[in-house]
Amino acid sequence: MKIFLRLTALVKPYFWWMALAALIGFATTGSGIGLLMTSGYIIAKAALQPPMAALQLSILGVRVFGLARGVLRYAERLISHNITFKILAKLRLWFYDAIEPLAPARLMHFKSGDLLQRIVDDIQSLENIYTRVLGPPLTALLVGVLMWFLLGIYSLQAALLIMLFHLLAGVGVPLLTTWLSRGLSVGIMNHKTVQQILALDLFQGTGELQVYGKLPEHLAQMRSTEKSKLLLQRKNVLIEGMHDSLTGMLMNGAVIAILWALIPAVSSGGMNGISLAIITLAVIASFEPFLPLPATVKHLEADKHAGERLFEILDAKPETEAPVSPLPFPANHEIMVERLSFTYPGSFSKTLDSISFSLPVGQHIALVGPSGAGKSTITSLFMRFWNCTEGQITLGGLNINLFDPEEVRRNISLVSQRTYLFAETIRENLLLAKPNASDEEIKNALSSAGLSQFTSKLDEWTGQHGMKLSGGERQRIAIARILLQNAPIVILDEATANLDGVTEREVTETLKTISAGKTLITITHRLKGMEQYDRILVLEKGKIVEQGVHGELMAGNGLYRRMWELQHRATP
Ligand code: ATP
Repeated sequence: MKIFLRLTALVKPYFWWMALAALIGFATTGSGIGLLMTSGYIIAKAALQPPMAALQLSILGVRVFGLARGVLRYAERLISHNITFKILAKLRLWFYDAIEPLAPARLMHFKSGDLLQRIVDDIQSLENIYTRVLGPPLTALLVGVLMWFLLGIYSLQAALLIMLFHLLAGVGVPLLTTWLSRGLSVGIMNHKTVQQILALDLFQGTGELQVYGKLPEHLAQMRSTEKSKLLLQRKNVLIEGMHDSLTGMLMNGAVIAILWALIPAVSSGGMNGISLAIITLAVIASFEPFLPLPATVKHLEADKHAGERLFEILDAKPETEAPVSPLPFPANHEIMVERLSFTYPGSFSKTLDSISFSLPVGQHIALVGPSGAGKSTITSLFMRFWNCTEGQITLGGLNINLFDPEEVRRNISLVSQRTYLFAETIRENLLLAKPNASDEEIKNALSSAGLSQFTSKLDEWTGQHGMKLSGGERQRIAIARILLQNAPIVILDEATANLDGVTEREVTETLKTISAGKTLITITHRLKGMEQYDRILVLEKGKIVEQGVHGELMAGNGLYRRMWELQHRATP
């Protein structure tokens, strides 16, 4: 119920539009009823061969109701679809606004396929909340009230009978179909989520699945999910067919009951025979808005489920939030890390354990250490993806939490091991770093990053995940992004780890040139060109175990020297 109330709050701003759409929906069915009644009147009256003039008014009525029905139906659809698209736009923006601050810390718990399902299908399900859930019962209620009054004029018994049949069609049949199809809508949605997850895994991991011989198993799992989803859908369709037939039967039952109630009045002369004919036709037409009601209850179940999944995202608190009055990024952005400890949620041991170091403006340091030592975790804390558990990071003497995380990220350029390229053009991929960059700036950045060959191909598509570019070219695109962003702090997190020897050397040279004058943190476990750093911090199991310049560390007999010797023996 709480979810439903929250969902209706979503459409509250469109209340008057919805009231208008329901009223027009009612007028449309009313015109249908009027059309059948006047037609019935003409046929019944004509059988008595009256003068033509006696039929003029009803002929005009047929024209008016016939035309009104079409025009009103169009207006009702126009307004209800307008409401639907407004809700859709609101939901999508709401969802994107909510999801962005959750990345990456909070989104790690969701599979991509599941998120995709929420963005596409769940929102699509909710966009119809007015047309499928709120609108039809309103129209049915108004038509029901109209019919009770209409029949009440002739007989209280007939009014009670139509009320009974309308209640059976409007409440009984929907409850029965809901009971029969309980869990079906949710089951179908869950199957679709599993399908999305399996499909994404298939697209992204075809190579691995093939290499390890798991492709047939994966495809079999996809087939069996499809099969069980089809079974659920078939059951759903059968139930839908059943409720349509039941509503039809109730309509016929209502006609018989009304005839049974009113024929004695006609026989006794208390009621005109023509009135009986037109009332009977009105009863038939009045069931039209009751037909979609069983589906309404099913949509309600699906919408509640979609709402729950959406609110799960919308209600999640971002890991890092901007303070109420964030400070401007300081010109003196000296970095101090003071007794910094960090434990990932759900983890029992500290990933970083009381780390302290300082990084004056313009200095270059390297963070080295074996895999899993916690090097990238430090990057995540700098980028404000996570909050420090203990200790603090300061920028220009001010706690990093006092700045807007967005502002911090604007002032730190990060190049990681794998540069993500969107399935877009080169230009679009670069505008990410500076949305208002001119073509001239983009071309200069490309040339300085060693990609002059792309300056004439700004609108060339980079392929899915930048597949049309080589690993080195992708990293150079990341360098061009740094140039465009022109942030004072640069973090290179294993930026050249995936490249071959020659490309690695070339890219490293370019990186060296562009980071001159900037504060630089290089994270690596490969000890190459270490002489150039002002300081090297050696990290092991979350602690700084050594620090100094290359010569000092080589003079010692610690982890750094062991790593260096191991690597330089292994790669002569
Ligand atoms: P590498 O050189 O292999 O990239 P690293 O030194 O950068 O390693 P981190 O990526 O910082 O190491 O990881 C440090 C530890 O934290 C690892 O044991 C890792 O399993 C754990 N870890 C990393 N990310 C998460 C996460 N999101 N949730 C829980 N544990 C994590």
